[in-house]
Amino acid sequence: MNDILCAMRHLKDQQASYEAAIEENPDNAEVSVPGSRRKRAAGHFSRFWANGRTLKIGFTDNDLSEPHKQAIIAAINQWQPFVNLMFEFIDGREGTPGYGKGDIRITTDSSANYTLIGTDAKANDTWTPTMVLGVKPSDPKFQYTAMHEFGHALGAEHEHQHPEADIPWDVPKVYDHYAKAGHSVEDVDESVLHTFESNKTTYTAYDKQSIMHYPVPNTITIGDWEVGLNTMISDKDKAFMRKAYPKG
Ligand SMILES: [Zn+2]
Repeated sequence: MNDILCAMRHLKDQQASYEAAIEENPDNAEVSVPGSRRKRAAGHFSRFWANGRTLKIGFTDNDLSEPHKQAIIAAINQWQPFVNLMFEFIDGREGTPGYGKGDIRITTDSSANYTLIGTDAKANDTWTPTMVLGVKPSDPKFQYTAMHEFGHALGAEHEHQHPEADIPWDVPKVYDHYAKAGHSVEDVDESVLHTFESNKTTYTAYDKQSIMHYPVPNTITIGDWEVGLNTMISDKDKAFMRKAYPKG
């Protein structure tokens, strides 16, 4: 249970990322830092899709079995009641009319799991997969990993990187722990240790139960501090998505 679930991906090109976010949804620009008078934080913006839109979700693999595809759809649909978005699943294979048409483009042809955050998928070229789901349905980790990855596709970042998380990391042990699973210092900094500032329209309190939180073993924190494996969309996850994609 201690392995990293995914490597969160932000586009390296911050300008392209920002432009895609604002073009999709101008509210993505509204940033304030809780408890601070600072209203604008340069470089901090959210990446939510336009509220109420249809999100086309394309499957790009030629050899994806129907049961595998249906298992992914079932996991994605766990989020559906909490967002004001329509999910349209399309055939995104090369040579089909849906090729390159998915807002989110899924491949399973990998051993890794990672997803571009929300509208970063728009800033990418339309032929490249934006959600890489290497975990297979036979794996006990499948359902919660698929839900976690799609949370990123909806614009959610990692909960353990919440500005109020204040996790007492034992930093050398964190690097050591993830190095054993093949993760670089840069990956650990980006996906585990770095904290981000929140968007005022979507800010919710830190949530140890979030599906977007990695497990935190006691061995990599200072003192007695840990988070177990979260396998369900939490109440605060639901509240977060309802705030990001309000109905009516
Ligand atoms: Zn993640």
